Amino acid sequence: MDKLEQTVVWLKQAAKEYKNEVVFASSFGAEDVVLLDILEKNNIAMRVISLDTGRLPQETYDVMDKWRKKPRLNIDIYLPDANDVEAMIKQDGVNLFYDSIEKRKKCCEIRKILPLKRALSGAKAWVTGLRGEQAGSRVDMQAIEDDKTFGIKKFNPLIMWKEQDVWDYIKKHDVPYNALHNQFYPSIGCAPCTRAISVGEDPRAGRWWWEQEDAVAECGLHASPIKK
Ligand code: SF4
Repeated sequence: MDKLEQTVVWLKQAAKEYKNEVVFASSFGAEDVVLLDILEKNNIAMRVISLDTGRLPQETYDVMDKWRKKPRLNIDIYLPDANDVEAMIKQDGVNLFYDSIEKRKKCCEIRKILPLKRALSGAKAWVTGLRGEQAGSRVDMQAIEDDKTFGIKKFNPLIMWKEQDVWDYIKKHDVPYNALHNQFYPSIGCAPCTRAISVGEDPRAGRWWWEQEDAVAECGLHASPIKK
């Protein structure tokens, strides 16, 4: 069984075991659009959610819109609570994330973590596009594991894929992807918190780049910290 076939097996297993209680959380990054294409091509019914933090790059909205128009996919977009955002901006300003790690985490909590918790409420499992190659910092990642943050099962069906596998798939199947990937953005988050990387930099060096080099940056969506 090759990597693609194994991924299909895990996705079908997740859909069969958890039916409408499994959620694929997609940010429309390269790995996520591969999974969306696999779900669509293999007719695997699964609820898909995505977080619109309100600070995403236009390129992310563009690719999100392309995928939302696919009739066989059912994609729900979750936004942060408007009252929470208003209170945060009133207290700390619109660019609070540059002030301190604590304020950056506060912004991620309000714009990402709380909406994700709402999206996952009632779910018994979720699916991510994490790859094992990225797991040097995500210790002990497994294809199917217990997610300690959310207290549900977590499926990582791309765990065996290399970056080249992802891009081979995208090119072979003409999969719509985020145009920022063509501009040296391997990892794409919110616009003010993501920059392009240079040759030789860690793929995640463009996320929260202003924080100390030796700081441990947590995306907050996955339990283990990400070392920059
Ligand atoms: S990535 Fe930046 S803008 Fe987005 S939620 Fe986190 S701190 Fe806020």
